Amino acid sequence: MKSTSDVVIIGGGCMGASTAYHLACLGIQNVVLLERETQLAVGSTGRNAGGVRHQFSTRQNIQLSMESIRLMQRFEDEVGYPMDFHQDGYLFLLSTPESVETFRNNITLQRSLGIEVDLVTPGEAVRLAPGLRVDGVIAASYCARDGIADPNGLTMGFARAAQAKGIQIERNTTVTGITVEKDRISGVTTDKGTISTPCVVNATGPHAARVAALAGVELPVTPLRRNIFIAQPPDEAVSGVNYPDNHIMVIDSATSFYFHREGPNILFGMGDPDETPGFDMTVRWDFLDSVVEVAMSRLPTLVEGKVSHAWAGLYAMSPDGNAIVGEVDSVAGFYLINGFSGHGFQQSPAVGRLLAAKIAGHETDIDLSPFALNRFGSGTNSPEANVV
Ligand SMILES: Cc1cc2nc3c(=O)[nH]c(=O)nc-3n(C[C@H](O)[C@H](O)[C@H](O)COP(=O)(O)OP(=O)(O)OC[C@H]3O[C@@H](n4cnc5c(N)ncnc54)[C@H](O)[C@@H]3O)c2cc1C
Repeated sequence: MKSTSDVVIIGGGCMGASTAYHLACLGIQNVVLLERETQLAVGSTGRNAGGVRHQFSTRQNIQLSMESIRLMQRFEDEVGYPMDFHQDGYLFLLSTPESVETFRNNITLQRSLGIEVDLVTPGEAVRLAPGLRVDGVIAASYCARDGIADPNGLTMGFARAAQAKGIQIERNTTVTGITVEKDRISGVTTDKGTISTPCVVNATGPHAARVAALAGVELPVTPLRRNIFIAQPPDEAVSGVNYPDNHIMVIDSATSFYFHREGPNILFGMGDPDETPGFDMTVRWDFLDSVVEVAMSRLPTLVEGKVSHAWAGLYAMSPDGNAIVGEVDSVAGFYLINGFSGHGFQQSPAVGRLLAAKIAGHETDIDLSPFALNRFGSGTNSPEANVV
C-alpha cells in the first residue's frame, strides 16, 4: 500500500468507485481507494433494487438523474465495461387527491427540465403493467425512460476503469483513524498501515457517521434496514398477462410497496414504518406477511407464487431524504458523499463526477449547495418528497 496519496477514498461501493473513476478522468491518479471487505460493492450497493428514475421532487435530484441516466445509457462506450440497463419505465400508483396534486406539481417541474412524464389513468397503468390490480388508485405517474440497472456492473465498471488509469484499490483494508491537524486532513490510519494525504473522501454508505466521527465531524446519517424478497411466479401464471413481461417498476405510493421483474422472477419490497435505526441486516421474515397483504391488492400472482429468497440491506438516511455532498466547512480536505436515503445507486454516476470536480477545484455545472452539510441548522434544506 502507498504511504502517501493525493486523495484517499474510504469505501468501495458505487460512490467510492464513481468518485475514483471521475478523479482519474480529471488527471488525479495518485489516489487510493480503501475497502474493508474482500470484494467491492458488497455493502448497500450490492443489496439494492437497481431502480433508476427521473421522478424526483427537487430540481437538483432530477438533474442528477438526467446526467446519471445519460451515462448509464452509454456506459460501455464511455467507461469501457458492459452494464445491464433496461428502460422499461416507472409507475407510481396514486390513491389520494393529495398525492395526485403532489405528483402533478412534480411532473410540472420534471417536464420543465425536458423529462417526458405523464399522469395516466388506472386502466393505462394496467396496460403498462399486466396483472396489476388498481383498486382505489385514482391515477399513476409514468415515465417511460426510467428503469432498472445493474449495481454490480456499474461499480465494477467504474473501479476497473479507474484502476486502468492508475488508481490503486486496496481491499481487506479497514480505516480505523483519520488524522486532522490545524483543521486540515493530514492522513488516515488503517489496519494495514498509515497513508499521508491532504484529502479524504468518506464514501462509506450507512457507516458514514462512524467514519466522519474519526475526523471529529458529526454527520446526521443513520442506517435503516430494508428487506427485499424474490418470488417465483406460480407455474400457471403467464408473463404479460398475470405479471409484466418487462422490467417496469411499480410503486404503490400509499404503502411504498414496489415490484419489478428480476429475470424470470419478481423482486418486491416495502418500507416498514416501525423499523428503527441500526446495523442489523438479518432478514425480517416476520414482516413478509405485512408485505404480502399489500401485494394481494396490487399483484395477486405474487401471493400465489413462492418466495425463494430474500436479503436485507441498509439505507443511509439523512434528515431531509437528500444526499450530503461536498467538503466539510470545519475540516479542510474532508469530503462527504453520503446520506443518499435509498436513491444513491442511481445518482452515483453524476455525484461522483461532481465531487471529483470539487476536489479538483473546478466549478460544478449542477449546484451542489442544497447538498451541503451546513444546510442542517441553517433552515435552508428542501426535503425530497419521493423517498421510496
Ligand atoms: C434494500 C435496498 C434497496 C435499494 N434500492 C435502491 C434503488 O432501487 N435505487 C437506488 O438508486 N438506490 C437504492 N438503494 C440505495 C443504494 O443502494 C445506496 O444509496 C448506495 O448503494 C450507496 O452506495 P455507497 O457507495 O455510498 O455505500 P455502500 O455500497 O454501502 O459502500 C460503502 C462501503 O464502505 C465500506 N466501509 C465502511 N466502513 C469502512 C471503513 N472503516 N474502512 C473501509 N471501508 C469501509 C463498506 O464495506 C462498503 O463496501 C437501496 C438500498 C437498499 C439497502
